[in-house]
Amino acid sequence: MTDEFEDSKLISKLTKEYGRVHSISTAQLKEELSAFGLDTRGTVLVLQKRLKEHYRRVQSSLHPHIAIWHRKNSYSHYAVIDFEATCDENLPETDFMHEIIEIPVVLISVATAQIIDIFHEYVKPKMCPTLTPFCKKLTGISQTMINQSRTFPEVWKDLEDWIAEKRASPDSPEEPDQVDARNEPIRSICFITDGPWDFKKFLAKECRYNNMDFPEMCVKFCNLRRKFCNFYGVKRVNIELMLKNLGQTFDGTPHSGIADSRNIANIVCTMTRDGAVLENNEVVDVSSIYTV
Ligand code: AMP
Ligand code: MG
Repeated sequence: MTDEFEDSKLISKLTKEYGRVHSISTAQLKEELSAFGLDTRGTVLVLQKRLKEHYRRVQSSLHPHIAIWHRKNSYSHYAVIDFEATCDENLPETDFMHEIIEIPVVLISVATAQIIDIFHEYVKPKMCPTLTPFCKKLTGISQTMINQSRTFPEVWKDLEDWIAEKRASPDSPEEPDQVDARNEPIRSICFITDGPWDFKKFLAKECRYNNMDFPEMCVKFCNLRRKFCNFYGVKRVNIELMLKNLGQTFDGTPHSGIADSRNIANIVCTMTRDGAVLENNEVVDVSSIYTV
């Protein structure tokens, strides 16, 4: 009973703190964030969320017995993927036989919120191996890059091997803190994409063309746009808008798969530092892929 009373007192204290965060000016928000050594970039909504999360984490470490304050992350790593695919202008999206031409994967350590490795390969499309001028201009991928590449099943196998090598080996240390984040074995991985289309459209189509099973590791994934909106309380977003909300700008050329992936990864790292726990929020309906 006493514990419950103590808990409710602490919860109402934190609720008051949240109310105060919502009542202060942008300049005051930045001043407080700066005093705690936190990022001062971003919109008011982002700054408020960052400061509230800071207070929640402080209270959570002071009172570890209050379960609702703790956000346990079940993943050791995030893997950001942003495919590029064949395309042409003025063609209805639904009729186009997209084929994946670029596979970039940016691996993030959840513990340190840092990019630790990158897998990056171009892919030779099998049905239409000649890129349209529109596609080359949009993605920055040249015909030479494509001609020198391997097929989707070959490159995908390399990606699976790359991930398998990084998975925990039986003799890896018990305590993840004991290893350098860069070499920390993957215990569990959450795939993150900008919207639902990378897996539900491009990967699903590619599996159908190649008569491959849909990769088990990609059946569930995190749609970052949805998570971003829920976490910061903003409405519709895309990569540029998420960066704008965070007070950041796009680094590189948009629609290059590797540049898109790196920028998405930077958003994920910022969200992780802000206290977000990213997890699967979309599922691919595998049964429908081969019947369409
Ligand atoms: P993105 O990740 O936004 O670069 O888009 C992924 C893929 O969607 C591209 O490689 C294209 O195949 C297709 N795509 C994106 N934008 C367009 C567009 N404006 N017109 C036609 N296809 C597009
Ligand atoms: Mg892209």
